[in-house]
Amino acid sequence: MTGSKLTAESVAAAPCIITELPGPKAKGIIERDDRVISPSYTRGYPFVIESGQGAVVRDVDGNTFLDYCAGIAVNSTGHNHPEVTKAIQEQAGQFLHMSGTDFYYENMVTLAERLSDTMPGAPNQKYKVFFSNSGAESVEGAIKLARYHTGRQNVISFYRSFHGRTFGAMSVTASKAIQKKHFFPLVPGVYHTYYPYHYRHPMGETPEATGESCLDLIRDSIFKMVCRPEELAAVIVEPIQGEGGYVVPPDNFLLGLQELAKEHGFLIIADEVQAGMGRTGKVWASNHVDGFFPDIMTSAKGIASGLPLGAIIAKDHVMNWEPGVHASTFGGNPVACAAALKTLDLLEGGLCDNATKQGAYLVEKLKVLQEKYEVLGDVRGRGLMVGVELITDAQTKGKAKPLRDAVVDKAFYNGLIILGCGENSIRFSPPLVITEEQTDKAVAIFEKTLIECMAAN
Ligand code: PLP
Repeated sequence: MTGSKLTAESVAAAPCIITELPGPKAKGIIERDDRVISPSYTRGYPFVIESGQGAVVRDVDGNTFLDYCAGIAVNSTGHNHPEVTKAIQEQAGQFLHMSGTDFYYENMVTLAERLSDTMPGAPNQKYKVFFSNSGAESVEGAIKLARYHTGRQNVISFYRSFHGRTFGAMSVTASKAIQKKHFFPLVPGVYHTYYPYHYRHPMGETPEATGESCLDLIRDSIFKMVCRPEELAAVIVEPIQGEGGYVVPPDNFLLGLQELAKEHGFLIIADEVQAGMGRTGKVWASNHVDGFFPDIMTSAKGIASGLPLGAIIAKDHVMNWEPGVHASTFGGNPVACAAALKTLDLLEGGLCDNATKQGAYLVEKLKVLQEKYEVLGDVRGRGLMVGVELITDAQTKGKAKPLRDAVVDKAFYNGLIILGCGENSIRFSPPLVITEEQTDKAVAIFEKTLIECMAAN
């Protein structure tokens, strides 16, 4: 049954493993891949996709899996959503490319209008949009814009943050040292400091106290000892840390950063590449924090349901750079814009609400497991951006990285696609179309896998 579309029956029956893994076709493709594809990729288990439908994916040997990763938080509307596919096909039948850098086309304008309307400060605050092709490009452009607008050079970012692999984005990233191996020198003027990670590094009794302590470190250490605030262009912050471990900061931290920015005239860049586009139950994670109005927002990943597109959305007076200072041949590709417009329709038409509902259900189920298994140290997140931190024991909270790695790997063989994040956490970032039945199955597989791995470790 390979080579054809997934049927409703096989989607309902998923996961279903019918060959040893990897199967013969997958094995062959992986061997070819090994010969010609860059070895810098970090593939774990051997999943070779053939097709997808909603939150179900099938491999080239006919095995089906539940996808609780969505291509690293990208397939927001699910695999192969018929309305997204139709929008893509219709636009592809009109024209594929003209370059928004030099010419005009309507769906790029409409998408910018629609994105502006979703921003935390709208409708009172007006926004302008620059389209790119990826998260890293959006971050790169946001840093350039912050420098251009403020005339200042320096940027603060946070330990465990991930912002991308190009030089500017890599320079503000502080997730894993391997990501910078042999790549120095980086872009100068970047200072890293602590993000409030109350579960692992409490700096006070409550998450809010930890948030306040992190702000104090900026005021008392960075501003006084390293970089005067007058020379700071921006703070770049993930409203929820993604790659760093799905860490949710307390609201007072983001609001406090904004206060500092107002006081000293620097900008807040909210990197919503992973947390944005409905994943947390609102279009932006920043929308959850009353009174938080980032000056610049970066987006990519889920924005176009899987087509490559990125966006920098900035307050209109901030995006005041002149013609020629920044551009992109492909950014805002019309087919990707068509997919993004349909994605927004679907998010606003019910998928954000589904993310809230299904996220609460997933967390509830995982918290039941947490009661049973000491190794599940923390269950956290917003909407369908859910992280589980694996520990050796509750007293020391030792990082159970080998167990985490084993669970992620073994879950695949049991029919569940998940990914790790941080040093010892697992992320659940499924398409926003998942159902309770799918989560029941996914959590049951997760539990079975955990038991198997604990027995083997
Ligand atoms: N910013 C954040 C918060 C991310 O999570 C990522 C990717 O994981 C990026 C930026 C980089 O995005 P891309 O891989 O599309 O360059």
